[in-house]
Parts: sequence; structure tokens; C-alpha cells
Amino acid sequence: MKRYQVVIVGGGPAGAACARKLVEAGMDCLVVDKANFPRQKTCAGWVTPSVFADLGIVPEDYPFDLTVFPRLKIFLNGFPITRPGRQYAIRRLEFDSWLLDLSRAEFLRHEIKEIRKTEQGYSLDGVIEAQVLVGAGGTHCPVARMARKESGQKRGARIVALESEYRINWQDPVCRLWFLENQLPGYAWYVPKKGGYLNIGVGGNAQVLKERGSSIQEHWEYLVGKLLHLGLLEDQPEDPRGYVYHLRGGDEPPGGKDLYLVGDAAGLATLDMGEGIGPAIRSGQLAAEAILGQGVYSVSRIPRYSLLPVGLRWLVS
Ligand SMILES: Cc1cc2nc3c(=O)[nH]c(=O)nc-3n(C[C@H](O)[C@H](O)[C@H](O)COP(=O)(O)OP(=O)(O)OC[C@H]3O[C@@H](n4cnc5c(N)ncnc54)[C@H](O)[C@@H]3O)c2cc1C
Repeated sequence: MKRYQVVIVGGGPAGAACARKLVEAGMDCLVVDKANFPRQKTCAGWVTPSVFADLGIVPEDYPFDLTVFPRLKIFLNGFPITRPGRQYAIRRLEFDSWLLDLSRAEFLRHEIKEIRKTEQGYSLDGVIEAQVLVGAGGTHCPVARMARKESGQKRGARIVALESEYRINWQDPVCRLWFLENQLPGYAWYVPKKGGYLNIGVGGNAQVLKERGSSIQEHWEYLVGKLLHLGLLEDQPEDPRGYVYHLRGGDEPPGGKDLYLVGDAAGLATLDMGEGIGPAIRSGQLAAEAILGQGVYSVSRIPRYSLLPVGLRWLVS
């Protein structure tokens, strides 16, 4: 059995950001992921300027195609608002792999199935031992499953999403977001990306959809019809992929001392914009600081980013 000071389960933005700080501090740290990188991740790939600031990188130094939006066009139940301010879009396939490389952490491709608490820390599938365990495995993270079973702490609202990102010669470069349209308890998006990719999708509160007898598939079909009608699409898009994640709003995630949950494993995406990449990175960094004895891990220390004017945020809550 191989022993490490820290084992991070999941090499997405949360795990990679945590690993980077730990490796920089000289810690003996392993990242385990069931996927080989580069790997696909269902996500529109919108990132805020704060993401680059947190990573200590100027956007111009990002080595892949970076789409820059000088403003976003937002529709609140049909009412248009243009939000000025630089925003970015990346492709997760490229971004996540780059971030993991940047960490320079040892990497193991392996799907973690069983975690046991031991006297020295944790045993993972009987092949790896960790003094400290970081759960960064997204919504279905096995570390989070184990920790939540023991603690009973609640998670925030569950969001279901459908999305397609594919190669297409898009004509309109303006990023658009539609909130609450067609009674969607969430929002739909059109994100044209540099390099000839388009990302479109819908995400909504699963419980509210259920109560209304509606489904995310219906809202996907509505979005496709709308994009065809507006001339933003000429043909049917590629079939969407689905994913589920939790919004911030439940209790503090379980853990502390020798176990930390970060990113989607902790349920940290924000309500109005569904931003999860920034909170994943920030939580990974905070967990690393706590492990290094440089701070306390608490999700209350992660700022919430919003593009909606303050007075309108309640509309999407
Ligand atoms: C449709 C959609 C659109 C979104 N759009 C945006 C957006 O535009 N901007 C934004 O900021 N956020 C967006 N989000 C949210 C964002 O994608 C997530 O919040 C973010 O990916 C969380 O990162 P993470 O590192 O916590 O998890 P992930 O990126 O999911 O990484 C988790 C990793 O853990 C690995 N793993 C899982 N289980 C195991 C296991 N048992 N053993 C080993 N490895 C395992 C997985 O392979 C994966 O690589 C969107 C989400 C969805 C679903």
C-alpha cells in the first residue's frame, strides 16, 4: 500500500487548484481521477476575471483559445439587460487538463470505490493510504458520499442541466443568457466560443421542475426552437449531455482536520449564474491552506459572483 500525506480524489478545477498549492509547499500529494486527462466535462465554460486572479495568471497567458466577451446579453423573463464588463469562456477539455498539469502533482488514473477510516488516516480501495483526504470528485464524489452518510448534513438545491458543445461555424458572437423564460426555474444559454465551437444549454431546479410536472428535456427543446427561430442556429444541434449538481445553500460541508470536501463535491455553485468553476478553484485553494495550517476552511469565505443587478437577484432565487 502506497502512503501519501494528502490524496485528492478528482482532478477537476477543485482538485487541481488544491494540489497546486500543496505541491508548491512541498507536500507529498497524489491526485486520483477515474478519467484520463484531457477529459470531457459538461459545462458552458464561462469564467469570470476572478478565476484568473485566483490562479495568479493574466488571461493573456492562458495557452488555449480564450473567448472574451466585452458584455453579456441577459434576458430576465424576456426583459433585456446588457451587462458590461469583461467575461471569458474556455473549453473544459483544455482548461482542466492545463490546470492539472500546472499543479505538477503525481497523478493516478483509478476509480475510487471504497474508502475506510484507519488509525493513520484513510485507506482507498486497499491500495492507497492518505493521512489527509480531499474529496474533489464532483457531484458523485465517493469521499463526499462517505462523509455525508456519517454527518447527515444537508446540501443545497439540486440543478439538472442539459448541454451540447460542438463544432459549428456560428455567425453571432454575442453571449446570451435567458432567465426564467418559458417558466424555466433557472436559465438557458448561447455561448459562441473562439475556435469555432458553440455551447448551448439549459439548467433548472430539479425539485421545482418536478412540482410543475415539467422536465429539463422540454426546456431544451424550447431553447432549440428559439435559437432556430432567432436564426442563431440553422440546423438541429448535436444531442445534449446531462449532468446534475448542487447549489450552495445547505450546511457547511462535513469534514475538517483530515477530510475536506471542495468544488461540486461540497455543492458550491452559486444560485443566480450557476458559477461552479470559480468556487471550485477557491475552495480547493482554501482547503490546501487549511491543510498547510494557514487558515480555516469554511465555504463562507468563498465570495459569490453575480452579473445580475442586486435588485433583481431575488427574481432567480
Ligand atoms: C451543463 C453545465 C454547465 C455549467 N456551466 C458552468 C459555467 O459556464 N461556468 C461555471 O463556472 N460553472 C459551470 N458549471 C458548473 C461547473 O461545471 C462545476 O461546478 C465544476 O466543474 C466543479 O468542478 P469540480 O472540480 O468540483 O468537479 P469536476 O470538474 O466535476 O471534477 C470532478 C472529477 O472527479 C473525478 N471523479 C469522480 N468520481 C471519481 C471516483 N470515484 N474516483 C476517481 N475520480 C473520480 C471525475 O472524473 C472528474 O474529473 C456548469 C455545470 C453544468 C452541469
